[in-house]
Amino acid sequence: MSPPALHRIGIGTDLHALAPGRPLVLGGVRIPFEKGPLGHSDGDVVLHALIDAVSGAAGMPDIGEQFPDSDPRHRDADSRDLVRHTLHALRTTRHRVACVDLIIHAEKPKLSAYKDAIRRSVAELLGLDPARVAIKAKTNEGLDAVGRGEAIACTAVVGLVLTDSG
Ligand code: MG
Repeated sequence: MSPPALHRIGIGTDLHALAPGRPLVLGGVRIPFEKGPLGHSDGDVVLHALIDAVSGAAGMPDIGEQFPDSDPRHRDADSRDLVRHTLHALRTTRHRVACVDLIIHAEKPKLSAYKDAIRRSVAELLGLDPARVAIKAKTNEGLDAVGRGEAIACTAVVGLVLTDSG
C-alpha cells in the first residue's frame, strides 16, 4: 500500500540572540557551548521553528499567539512541552506530521556531531521514524548576526497527512 499523500505543508523560522552562560538546546538536545539563546522559554530555535511550521500547515495560530511571552507560565519553558501542546491541538484538525525538514543556521558550534541526536530527539517528540526527519546545519559564511555568532536560527518545513488516510 502506498503511503498517504501529503495534505498540507507549512514553513516556520525562528532566531534567537546568543548570550554567554545560557544553555544551548537544539531540538531538545543540550549542546555544549559557551553561549546560548536569550529568550523567555529555553529558546530552542529548532522546536520553535517546528511549532510554527506545524501550526502554519494546519491553519493554527502562530507560536507567539499560542504561547505568549507575556505569560509567566512559559518562562524557561521546556520547548518540548510546547511542541506536545501544539501536537495535541493538531489532532483536532485531523492531521498528523508525516515528515520534517530542518535547517539550523549557526556559525558556531560545529553541529555535525549532534545532528543525529537532534534528529532522533525531534523524531521521538513527533512519534516519527527518524528517517522522516532531516537535519541540515549551515553556517552563514561570517555574514550578518548569525555569521558573527551573535544569533542562531532555524528554518523548518513540515508535511502533514490526514489522520484518517492511514
Ligand atoms: Mg523562539
